[in-house]
Amino acid sequence: MSKMSTDKNSTGTRVIFGPNKSYFALTLCLILVLFVNYFLYLQLQKLFKENLQERIISMASTAALNFDPNEISKISGPESIGSSVYQETVLKLNHIRQANKNVKYAYILRKTSDPNVLQFVADADSLDPAKIFDLNEDGKIDESDELNSPGDPYDISEFPWLRDEGFNGATVDSDLTQDQWGTFLSSSSPIYNSKGDTTDLIGLDVEVSDFIKITNAALVPYALFVVFLCLIITALTHFLVKTWKARVHVVQELDRQKDAVLHMVAHQFKGPVTTINFTTELLLDGTCGELTSEQKESISTIRTASQKMGAQSEMVLDAAKITLNKLPLNPVPTDLNELFKEVIEEAQNHAKQLKVHMKITLPNQTLPTAMLDRKYTQLAIDNLLSNAVKYTALKSEGGNVDFVVEMKNKTLFFHVKDTGIGIPKAEQDKIFLELYRASNAGKDGNGLGLRVARGAIEAQGGKMWFESEEGQGTTFFVELPLVVVAKK
Ligand code: ATP
Ligand code: MG
Repeated sequence: MSKMSTDKNSTGTRVIFGPNKSYFALTLCLILVLFVNYFLYLQLQKLFKENLQERIISMASTAALNFDPNEISKISGPESIGSSVYQETVLKLNHIRQANKNVKYAYILRKTSDPNVLQFVADADSLDPAKIFDLNEDGKIDESDELNSPGDPYDISEFPWLRDEGFNGATVDSDLTQDQWGTFLSSSSPIYNSKGDTTDLIGLDVEVSDFIKITNAALVPYALFVVFLCLIITALTHFLVKTWKARVHVVQELDRQKDAVLHMVAHQFKGPVTTINFTTELLLDGTCGELTSEQKESISTIRTASQKMGAQSEMVLDAAKITLNKLPLNPVPTDLNELFKEVIEEAQNHAKQLKVHMKITLPNQTLPTAMLDRKYTQLAIDNLLSNAVKYTALKSEGGNVDFVVEMKNKTLFFHVKDTGIGIPKAEQDKIFLELYRASNAGKDGNGLGLRVARGAIEAQGGKMWFESEEGQGTTFFVELPLVVVAKK
């Protein structure tokens, strides 16, 4: 069975998801979108970089194939500068550089006994002394930038990729190097001899400033699109919240008007109904002259209908007072034995009429006298019992209603269990709302009884909740702490 507990603070008005929550959700979404965007940006950049690194590695490995390690080994010091091997090597490096406009530097370095130091062999610019570079990387090109000569030491301690991996195979720097002359990615490949040994490697510094531009060019439209999308969503949400607010306002106003009309009608009914009740009493007790039995029967029918109308008007007014938390309680010493006797008698008559079996279980000890609003406590129990009988008979003849009363530590517990139609799960959270009737409840009823019953119990510090399964039955539970008084 599904279980529904009462919400002590609930007034029965419909609570709808507020606009502040919508804005909060929207802000969260925007943060999430920005986060996802940033993540995608990084991923895309990583992909672009990996792709570029692969291309540069393959450039270095292909370039390494152009050199004969035996020939290069002949270049050993400044004295090699005039040699044909040196000139040929420098020319080849130049060709490699010309083949790809992004290759800015091409050079050959040799292993030494110190892993942090390589020996300079040749550079693509070695034969062009007029063309000097910022070799000391001080941001200026001047005479202090001397070109390296064969045999010059070259400190590679700041290039761990070259130091650790350079002679193991083609490799590439994992980070872009950015200086005032551009953004570079360096790669190298060992120059192997026929035995697969190597002492020299070729290094290529490739300018990749374009890469940054290309990456941004690819990502900017995407980022703009996402920002545009976010703006559209924001505008749409803003519009929806505004429309929603207007609608809520209309619904609230309709609710208010409905309550006002109901209240007014119930009030207007009260006077005439009291008059009809009083007059029918006079007629029935013979004050206005003796009536025939047929006349008495008709007048009795009028009296019953009028009493029913009076009770319903009262219920409308009570429900309105409960909504406003203004139920006028009048706690008086109430003998619970008497109270239960009365409600049980009435419920048993009702059950008999509708062919429902009713089982009553009262505690063994006599119930105490407690400070309670007699009228509203009785009304609450009446409503639960009459619902149980009514919705059990609605299912089939011969169903059961169990009414169990218990007392524990000055708290009164009772529950009404029936084998009736049950309450559909999807409607269970609305069942205490004013005028709400479940879709399987038939036509007889107004949807006020439970609201008043729960209001009456809660106003006296108690709780009411239920468990129900459609088609199987329902149990309503009540827990009511008592202020016990000595019996008069
Ligand atoms: P009235 O105002 O005349 O009592 P009602 O019985 O329809 O009319 P409530 O007593 O407030 O109204 O009950 C509200 C709804 O809760 C009912 O219409 C019915 O759908 C459901 N309900 C209440 N008690 C039971 C029950 N014992 N078994 C099944 N459904 C129930
Ligand atoms: Mg009812």
